[in-house]
Amino acid sequence: MAEVRLEATQGDITRQRVDAIVNAANSSLLGGGGVDGAIHRAAGRELLEACRQLGGCPTGEARATAGFRLPARWVIHTVGPVWSGGKRGEPELLASCYRRSLEVADELGIRSVAFPAISTGAYGFPGQLAAEIAVNTVRSANTEVELVRLVAFDAETFVLYRKALDNRS
Ligand code: ADP
Repeated sequence: MAEVRLEATQGDITRQRVDAIVNAANSSLLGGGGVDGAIHRAAGRELLEACRQLGGCPTGEARATAGFRLPARWVIHTVGPVWSGGKRGEPELLASCYRRSLEVADELGIRSVAFPAISTGAYGFPGQLAAEIAVNTVRSANTEVELVRLVAFDAETFVLYRKALDNRS
């Protein structure tokens, strides 16, 4: 199995032309602010209907729906941990979000996936640690996905991705 191609970009995840974009959702899957709100606005009302049928999602898990009006065919909804100091399993749960999203992608035959910086907005996860977890978890994943794009909304997050990608630890 070839190693996944991993890249970072700065931009809006709703505009990414990949097979699947990942949503940093909350456990109700019924929409929220931040990237979740942007994805629901861009996909249209049918996305909320599809999410309703999933009946929620636990932290660290992932569920797929269609992408409706998005350029991406699929949305993989994952629920990141709320940061509360780092001793409540937050790093492991964040890693699980990346790993489980790629497993769901494999089940659907998805070859390219774009991730937002899960948990680093309203959920308060420290940006540098989150970037390192994203890069290390994707690199060590056993997946058929060929391209993973880490999408930074702001310049600061983009720099953190570039640094984490330069560190081959
Ligand atoms: P969480 O609740 O998981 O912290 P947020 O949506 O509050 O989720 O933030 C997660 C990350 O998504 C933040 O880094 C935020 O800047 C980023 N973000 C917000 N809107 C977009 C967007 N349209 N495209 C990509 N990333 C976005």
